Amino acid sequence: MGYFMTHREKAEQLLQQQYHCSQALFGAFAEEIGLDLKTAFKISTCFGGGMRQGGICGCITAAMLVLGMAIGFYDSQDKELELYVNKKTDEFIKRFTGQMHGDINCRDILGRDISEPTGMASIRKEGLILKKCPRALNASIDILEDMLKEHLKYITESSISLEDIPEDNEMQSLLKSVSKLCRFRRNVNNLLYSSSKEIGFIQFDIRKFKIVNDLYGEKFGDEVLDFIINKLKESCKDKQFFINLRSDVFMIVTEYNSEEELVEFIQEFDSKASYFKNIKLQMSYGIYTVEDKKMELRQMEDRAAMARKAAKNNILKNILFYKEQFKDSLYNRKFIEENMQAAIAEKQFLMYLQPKYSIAKNEIIGAEALVRWKNPERGMIYPDQFIPVIEENGFIRKVDYYIWEKACSFIRKCMDYGIKTCPVSVNVSRVHLRDDECLYVLSNMIEEYGIPKNLLELEITETADNQQISLKALQLKEEGFTLLMDDFGSGYSSLNILLETPFDVIKLDKKFIENMMLSEKGRLLLEQVVSMAGKLDLGLLAEGVETKDQIELLQSIGCDQVQGYYYAKPMPEEEFFELLKQQAEVMV
Ligand code: C2E
Ligand code: MG
Ligand code: MG
Repeated sequence: MGYFMTHREKAEQLLQQQYHCSQALFGAFAEEIGLDLKTAFKISTCFGGGMRQGGICGCITAAMLVLGMAIGFYDSQDKELELYVNKKTDEFIKRFTGQMHGDINCRDILGRDISEPTGMASIRKEGLILKKCPRALNASIDILEDMLKEHLKYITESSISLEDIPEDNEMQSLLKSVSKLCRFRRNVNNLLYSSSKEIGFIQFDIRKFKIVNDLYGEKFGDEVLDFIINKLKESCKDKQFFINLRSDVFMIVTEYNSEEELVEFIQEFDSKASYFKNIKLQMSYGIYTVEDKKMELRQMEDRAAMARKAAKNNILKNILFYKEQFKDSLYNRKFIEENMQAAIAEKQFLMYLQPKYSIAKNEIIGAEALVRWKNPERGMIYPDQFIPVIEENGFIRKVDYYIWEKACSFIRKCMDYGIKTCPVSVNVSRVHLRDDECLYVLSNMIEEYGIPKNLLELEITETADNQQISLKALQLKEEGFTLLMDDFGSGYSSLNILLETPFDVIKLDKKFIENMMLSEKGRLLLEQVVSMAGKLDLGLLAEGVETKDQIELLQSIGCDQVQGYYYAKPMPEEEFFELLKQQAEVMV
């Protein structure tokens, strides 16, 4: 990476070259906000002259210009943005006044009256700017850098989520992405207002880009992105704008005449960009076609993003148009994020237990702990609705710890009650597999509740990063935990992971069993999987078993352990406790 001059260094260099403070400050940020130095000087001189008359420190005005350019006042109808810009202006002035201990006038900083025409000449002669201004310049630069970072966070979180921007990223590249986005939005805004044709927002990303990065390295990943950018440059003509929002997410805004034409445009681009060095790149495209040009730009961007996410989850189609229902998923996400803290504090998360049965013995042999969210406003919320969201923001850790503890406490209760205890399995989100925390948490819980390790079983689902799982699983195994591989047969590398990871039990996925039962060939395969588990000395449990047919087939091929609605649905822990008690009584 080339050497970047810091803003301070640039500003000081410009001061040395006899520029004024406002020119030096604005000049230091010029390139990143998309201006050449000459234009920056012209602008700041123009404002600077008037400002010196008023006596206010030039850095303040220059900083306002930087903020204004970076934030991009792209829509004068956007009241929300107007308020935001005003708030930022106040914030800057407040922070600057604080840092300068109230010296915000040129007069106070330079210690000289500058309103006289002769004043400036003598100030220069005495080198006062070089002596006195750097304090104001440096204070401004510190505050500006801070505020711009915050702004980037704001635009990335509130609009089209440019998440994953590394903390240690250079300030310069942060600013570049802010100003690139602002320029893009300005162009889009002009297009919206000037065009008489229809306008479409297309957002796309590369499916499983993370795997490309993992397999071939980040450098290769960067080459892929450059390749896409080049193909976009080739494909996008006049009145078609594109931007690389973050890692593998791109957006194109274009004029069009008919939806067919829009789809053809995408298909044509897709065919050009689908192979890079023999690697197949699969893109998911979301389209939002503008109905109301007065709608906020961010909302249009969000809608294209929603359609992209839906396309990503759709196996049949990789191009999807935005539908109103997608909005629900966004509201859902917002609701979860806003209410999850309170849900923990107010014990709205509940542990449900679903029994596991032995077909042959017709008795309960264990249970799986499954979280439920009982929300006062929305009623029961199921894990598939909220787990993906809290896995993304990391809150899953808290929820999982809560459920694990509930499971430990349940096992303790059974032990204290003196009924035959059975193992309870808990789900371990992939988020835990990134570090060692879960290892300590689990070991502490086991110790605190005084329960044998083999009674708390851990369910892990395969992910893209199987190596990471294997490493962590090995540690958990060494600690003495029993590991269950969840959803076996639903992913793409189930067999690989068996090779690398020391699982004790495999849980056959519901869909997998259903698919296999559709044909003779499938049934044969299922039989082979059961036999393979036996040969590898792995336990086996079939999930999501609903029908008698399934039970009979599983029994006939030697799979005895099952979990599913055929026997019982997940139930509140008290109910499961009663079931266990009944079973114990029958057995006596
Ligand atoms: P999973 O671990 O594979 O759990 C099995 C899911 O299948 C459960 O859905 C269960 O209610 C459902 N199920 C069981 N038998 C049947 C059946 O016969 N028919 C049908 N249609 N479904 C059946 P649930 O409780 O909605 O959980 C969904 C997923 O959410 C779980 O899949 C698991 O991956 C995740 N999850 C649930 N609780 C937790 C938790 O506490 N922590 C974490 N990290 N993930 C959890
Ligand atoms: Mg599970
Ligand atoms: Mg499962």
